[in-house]
Amino acid sequence: MGNILDGKALSAVVKDEVRSEVAELEKKYGRKPCLCVIIVGENPASQVYVRNKVKAAAYTGMESLLIELPASVSEEELLRKISELNSDDSVDGILVQLPLPKHIDEEKVIDAIAPEKDVDGFHPSNVAGLWLGKDCIVPCTPAGVMRLLDSAGIDLCGKTAVVVGRSNIVGKPVAKLLLDRNATVVIAHSRTADLGAVTRQADVLVVAVGRAGLITGDMVKPGAVIIDVGMNRDAEGKLCGDVDFASCSEKASWITPVPGGVGPMTIAMLMKNTIRCFRARV
Ligand code: NDP
Repeated sequence: MGNILDGKALSAVVKDEVRSEVAELEKKYGRKPCLCVIIVGENPASQVYVRNKVKAAAYTGMESLLIELPASVSEEELLRKISELNSDDSVDGILVQLPLPKHIDEEKVIDAIAPEKDVDGFHPSNVAGLWLGKDCIVPCTPAGVMRLLDSAGIDLCGKTAVVVGRSNIVGKPVAKLLLDRNATVVIAHSRTADLGAVTRQADVLVVAVGRAGLITGDMVKPGAVIIDVGMNRDAEGKLCGDVDFASCSEKASWITPVPGGVGPMTIAMLMKNTIRCFRARV
């Protein structure tokens, strides 16, 4: 059985790092970093994520501001709110929880957030920065994946890394971060002809698809490091990943569980990104 990459334990370490940083920053600058989270509507999954983000912010001692808008809010009104927060000096980070109701254009909303307050790292100028190798805000989930790999001392140089999924928020940025560490990166997706043949090449396998049990033990190279980003509900409503843990953990050298793997790291890295935004603004 592979070693567990324990995201819950590591996220506690990261949040404690942030907590000390918050205390130092307050002493030095006379104010604490402030994260503003906007939620539109009542999507139950989004409500849980937002609650956890605000809870984590409270733990670290930073300020947080939760803005709850009704599902009926107009795009114009949401954009106005973002513009207000952009020019509010006491706000360091702005996060709009996705998905948004159908009548709101997500791209317009992301574009409206000031890049220096874009704690999710989704704004085009941060995305460009990542791909151009500039020092910029990196999306939280990919940053969390890298921190997990680093915590186990996994050397990526020259390794074959396969990323399954090519979304803008996980697949693509995590692939770029792996490339930056000199891994040979392959990105697989829904049109990949023989997924198992590709994943079996992976020394490091990162799966971000959203399909429970997509990756089974026969699709994994012995000794692989497996990072499961997926968050799905099984038939009983229990949280599970994209990786069949029972069969894959037998072959892996390291593997993340779900829950308790990437999920908590995403929130911890959001705290780190808020600190980064604060430092860039003071
Ligand atoms: P998206 O739906 O945006 O992207 C899914 C990707 O998976 C697409 O690129 C798609 O390919 C690919 N895909 C779909 N079916 C297959 C298949 N059968 N074989 C190979 N690839 C396939 O999802 P996200 O990236 O936003 O999220 C992925 C998962 O990660 C979800 O379960 C989500 O809940 C979870 N998540 C977890 C986070 C955490 O903190 N733990 C944070 C963010 C997401 P194509 O492009 O061809 O359509």
